[in-house]
Amino acid sequence: MKLLKVQALEAKHGLLKAVRGIDLSLDEGEKLALVGANGAGKTTLLRTIAGIHPASSGRVYLDGIDVTAVPAHARSSMGIALVPEGRKLFGSMSVADNLKVATSAGRRGRWNFESVVEALPQLKPKLKAQAGSLSGGQQQAVAIGRALMTNPRVLLLDELSLGLSPLAVQGVYDSLATVATAGTPLILVEQDLQRTFDVADRIVCVLEGRAVASGRTDELTREEVMDYYFGHRV
Ligand code: ATP
Repeated sequence: MKLLKVQALEAKHGLLKAVRGIDLSLDEGEKLALVGANGAGKTTLLRTIAGIHPASSGRVYLDGIDVTAVPAHARSSMGIALVPEGRKLFGSMSVADNLKVATSAGRRGRWNFESVVEALPQLKPKLKAQAGSLSGGQQQAVAIGRALMTNPRVLLLDELSLGLSPLAVQGVYDSLATVATAGTPLILVEQDLQRTFDVADRIVCVLEGRAVASGRTDELTREEVMDYYFGHRV
């Protein structure tokens, strides 16, 4: 059985169909990347999988259980965690409290306050600082840590590097490598194709709300992905 299965999923913004019938699945331990131009529907897809945005049709299954009608907070307790675009931290709360607040939503497992801080050592000297006072890269590490605190079965990561300096992006991806080593399955949206190829096992190309191609990163070339990205191959 697939860990996560998305079947003929559709999601709208008003009349606009942002996600137009996407099928995808994720196995235990797998790292999948969604690639596509701005506005292709990647963020809406992740938000719909997390239950933050409603599906207008189609299904989302976690461990074979239909969670399409399950509200976001309950999906988080079941093991779907989203690191949203723009991080969405509680800026006036301390870093430690931003992490701890996620515990109540979560399942028990290998991740707890101590193990998360150990995996993200750049947070150690900042635990008492207000989250909003941290640099963008450090805030992104808090957002990853907060998601880990729920002991996710699936981690959804939306444009981790948006607005960060190259150095900060490197730091965030170093943090992610720790998570990946721990075997947590993830779906990543990332504009930087090189990083996508470095992290992911498999890529799904999204064009105008549809999954137009997919393949293993050791089989696809960057040129092929760029062609799908711009719609040249469709
Ligand atoms: P980006 O990389 O810019 O985040 P994306 O691939 O994640 O792009 P979405 O953000 O999911 O794409 O947007 C898909 C489509 O839905 C776009 O046409 C976008 O303009 C539209 N859209 C997204 N959010 C809203 C919203 N809140 N209200 C109306 N339309 C929206």
